[in-house]
Amino acid sequence: MATDVKKLIIIGSGPSGYTAALYAARANLSPVVYTGYQHGGQLTLTTDVENFPGFPEGIQGPELMSNMRAQAERFGAELRDRDVTAVDFSQRPFRVTTHVKPFSAEDDEIEQADAVIVATGASAMWLGIPGEEQYRGYGVSSCATCDGFFFRNKRMVVVGGGDVALEEAIFLSRFASELTVIHRRDTLRASKAMQQRALNNPKIRFVWDTVVEEALGEKHPQTGAARVTGVRVRNMKTGEESVLPTDALFVAIGHRPNTHIFHGHIPLDERGYAVAQDAEGTATAVEGVFVAGDVRDHRYRQAVTAAAEGCKAAMDVEKWLEERGEADVDPTGEVYAGLMHEPATEPAVEPATELAVEVGASQT
Ligand code: NAP
Repeated sequence: MATDVKKLIIIGSGPSGYTAALYAARANLSPVVYTGYQHGGQLTLTTDVENFPGFPEGIQGPELMSNMRAQAERFGAELRDRDVTAVDFSQRPFRVTTHVKPFSAEDDEIEQADAVIVATGASAMWLGIPGEEQYRGYGVSSCATCDGFFFRNKRMVVVGGGDVALEEAIFLSRFASELTVIHRRDTLRASKAMQQRALNNPKIRFVWDTVVEEALGEKHPQTGAARVTGVRVRNMKTGEESVLPTDALFVAIGHRPNTHIFHGHIPLDERGYAVAQDAEGTATAVEGVFVAGDVRDHRYRQAVTAAAEGCKAAMDVEKWLEERGEADVDPTGEVYAGLMHEPATEPAVEPATELAVEVGASQT
């Protein structure tokens, strides 16, 4: 059943979705956010997050996401914990369909909006082997940048033969006591330049024609803390099985953008990532539909970059609606002061002569 037309629907609830919701709510756009049944995105699958600015002691991934959620709600974002099952961006208002009852089209809700932000993220591909899920966050990871630091001077294994696997291996080789790349073939998929760098790195050892069949681990008898102790591997050519001791298993076999419901509705690249009109902005070729975060970013894929994109998308939406005369300008003017309004015509400040002289002096 269709309802009244909202100004903005945000699809997704990772750092980009929640940040877009926060900014949009503070700009009086009353966003409706479809968070998905399993809200919070990839960070809910991690434990410690030590590289999100503002938390000097680090923060647990799920806690960070629940804080972002609470912050968006505090400013009036309406969160609906449901998956979007279909979209229609062929005309405005755009239509977004959700199942009110999980797995049932009965009582489908169709919500309409003037603008949509797609922030559905991407999912790391996993091996699907025993132990992988059990030890995820306790030694099994899909993000070297996020988790490598926890395994300083420890043994690490990276699985995969693409650019990301080698990039992660090179990065991790700075911390690892031993680093092994396990690849299922004897030829790497990565670019030649990356191959050279990895093959020439004395800390990286390659195990070819081999698949990881199980992540092995244990629970500490006193504390109950889980940890990875090794991987069970099998040589594809000889069939030989063995156990390789390791403290961490980094799975780098690719990511999949969560764009299946957007095929034919917004431009996607050959790998399925959403495409914005230009690299810096968030607008797509479909006027009124914006994209933010890992759903369009296969390069950085960090919580902080996704959050930044969510912010940009909300600002782009507001500017776009305002240009069309469809946005209520934030009455306080505080949120978008820099973007929306001409710079305040304060009396010109005299150049800081003293500072300039001091700086100049210090350089001589
Ligand atoms: P990718 O290029 O698709 O490589 C995935 C790797 O994982 C392949 O080596 C593949 O093996 C292996 N793999 C896939 N499924 C597996 C499984 N179930 N078990 C074991 N191994 C499995 O993905 P990516 O490395 O994430 O890179 C994604 C894209 O970003 C690529 O186009 C890449 O070139 C690009 N990228 C470029 C740069 C750069 O240029 N600096 C940096 C990062 C990423 P097979 O080789 O046998 O298929």
